[in-house]
Amino acid sequence: MNMDFKRKLTIPMETKEMYPLTGEMSEHIERNVAELKRIFSGRSDKLALIIGPCSADNEDSVLDYISRLVPVQEKVKDKLLIVPRVYTNKPRTTGDGYKGLVHQPDPNAKPDLFKGIIATRELHMRVVKETGFACADEMLYPENYKYLDDLLGYVAIGARSVEDQQHRLTASGIEVPVGMKNPTSGDLSVMMNSILAAQHAHDFIYRGWEAHSFGNPYAHAILRGYINRQGVTHPNYHYEDLVYLAELYEKWGLQNPGAVIDCNHANSGKDPFEQPRIIKEVLSFCRWNGGVKRLVKGFMVESYIEDGSQPVGGGCYGKSITDACLGWEKSERLVYEIAELL
Ligand code: PEP
Ligand code: MN
Repeated sequence: MNMDFKRKLTIPMETKEMYPLTGEMSEHIERNVAELKRIFSGRSDKLALIIGPCSADNEDSVLDYISRLVPVQEKVKDKLLIVPRVYTNKPRTTGDGYKGLVHQPDPNAKPDLFKGIIATRELHMRVVKETGFACADEMLYPENYKYLDDLLGYVAIGARSVEDQQHRLTASGIEVPVGMKNPTSGDLSVMMNSILAAQHAHDFIYRGWEAHSFGNPYAHAILRGYINRQGVTHPNYHYEDLVYLAELYEKWGLQNPGAVIDCNHANSGKDPFEQPRIIKEVLSFCRWNGGVKRLVKGFMVESYIEDGSQPVGGGCYGKSITDACLGWEKSERLVYEIAELL
């Protein structure tokens, strides 16, 4: 093969032995996952708010950001369950650029995947220990999920991965709610096929094992907008889109129909300041139509300490080095506004 096998990595079991969860941490995860399952099965009317930076690029600023969410969660706990976004691996449209903590624990240094795997587990552990939240991450590399399967509360399958068989089969073996994004082209049948695959049991090869998954009844849709053939972004959170998705669910006969609205990416045209407007619009659709209200299980917001984004190495603390984010003051206000509208 035309590659250098540089070193053998520690396997998930060894890594977990080196960095084990405490009983208290497991309790935090279990409590949050149970609540998320109630939301995604319709047993709770609360909404899930998956909020945080596009990429978890720096341990200090990510922990600082998530610590600020703790008192906010306490104030809105009857209406919202906050699930911090701690996204440690980033899909890149051309493969170039910052690919997340797992590749580069220091975004300004060379890739170091050995350290990256440890840094990823350590960051997720610190967040759980210090804030009591269970976080969301994207499963960009299905084989790596086992390094974090005891730590995550929510898993997203990205727009560029949702058509991939290994992602779908692995999602069918995940315990916690998994959100399948619509693909960048916007074809909802790809997303529905992915949800269907994830909800079923499968036999497949996973990390050198012949494995059997039992199906994930909490697999659901994430609408993130799309890009048309001319390369122009289009939203797909509008009233007609949501009514259509509810109809698709009915036609496909899937379990636990549900959708999370990703308010950034192609839905906002990558303008993070549009996110509050999008949420308020969707909440008004929910008030208008009971079917839409039952469908919408939550929102995904890209938010960090500072507004906007900067290049890698830009040096501004708490400012995104991938997609532009909504800064802390606006984000905090937004969470309270959502709670008031519910
Ligand atoms: C993201 O959530 O930052 C992301 C890369 O999303 P998508 O897969 O929708 O592009
Ligand atoms: Mn993003």
